[in-house]
Amino acid sequence: MTETRPAIECRGLFQTYGDTVALDDFSLVVDKGEVVSLVGPSGCGKTTALRAIAGFEPPDAGSVSIGGRTVFSEGVDVAPEKRRVGMVFQDYALFPHMTVADNVGYGVTEEDRVERVAEVLDLVGLTGMDHRLPSELSGGEQQRVALARALAPRPEVVLLDEPFSNLDAPHRDRMRRDVRRILRDAGATAVFVTHDQSEALAIADTVAVMRDGHVVQVGSPLDVYQRPTDPWVASFLGESLAVEGIAEDGVVKTDLGSFPVDGSVEGAVRVIIRPEWIIATPAANGEATVIDLEYYGHDQMLLLELADGRRVQARVGRRPVLDRGDRVDLEFQEAVVFPRD
Ligand code: ADP
Repeated sequence: MTETRPAIECRGLFQTYGDTVALDDFSLVVDKGEVVSLVGPSGCGKTTALRAIAGFEPPDAGSVSIGGRTVFSEGVDVAPEKRRVGMVFQDYALFPHMTVADNVGYGVTEEDRVERVAEVLDLVGLTGMDHRLPSELSGGEQQRVALARALAPRPEVVLLDEPFSNLDAPHRDRMRRDVRRILRDAGATAVFVTHDQSEALAIADTVAVMRDGHVVQVGSPLDVYQRPTDPWVASFLGESLAVEGIAEDGVVKTDLGSFPVDGSVEGAVRVIIRPEWIIATPAANGEATVIDLEYYGHDQMLLLELADGRRVQARVGRRPVLDRGDRVDLEFQEAVVFPRD
């Protein structure tokens, strides 16, 4: 029989602070070797959820298992250092007076220490930096040491809380790629918290979208972006335009045009369209006027105005080359349709 126990299983976690409900029936299952991003707006409970898994603060109710072992439930509250969890914090939280090697070897048993420190420093690309102090390292290097320290004791899971938010943009992109590779190479199971939707999509195998203290959708990055469960998830994960429509016999009619739709959807609907699902073709008497454009090199975002004054954003390739005031015709390639209540 293959082993199927999840690496992390949170069931029905509740946590309140006075009148604030930080976790409201929070459930999440993470498989062994999976990298999950927990994404949601600021204040939705992401950090509280991570802290509950790590054991820093017992929730009011619910259960947490790590590697098939119950670490929190009624009458059970295993101490953080006994949960086999590695943590990486936003501010790295390295011991400032200890060398890189001592930081990384901190949680490793003495007989394995030298070998294991060398192994994880190699994994994070810091071989040769063993004797430096954290103050002698760049932000990115400190982040690698923090990750090496978390991985060194071979934890069941690694939890990362906004790990890239202290790095500037070019370093952040590189660190994201590096951290993803390091976690994969280590075969680690990881949950990382972010409020940045593009980061959540880029780094993870699985995205768990959180709102108001609980997870509202879990899926692959492609799934949650292309097939959001509701209009809120759609707009949280990227730019989108919402229009009202009526679905009948497999077609949704909106005042922007008609879209094919799953035949089971009937009646009043809300249609969500992403900017990159729109094709804009230059036309002398086109239906929309270019009000503004942002040129990014690899593509461009057009701000368009329709005849009725409504504004629509379209993300198009490097071409067509357009200017403010130019007219375009629009074609809507895709849409996501939700019943309207
Ligand atoms: P996120 O990480 O998604 O930004 P948090 O988990 O930090 O959200 O916080 C969720 C909610 O709980 C917020 O409203 C926050 O103000 C509140 N909260 C978190 N920790 C505490 C605390 N120790 N005392 C009081 N309120 C808290």
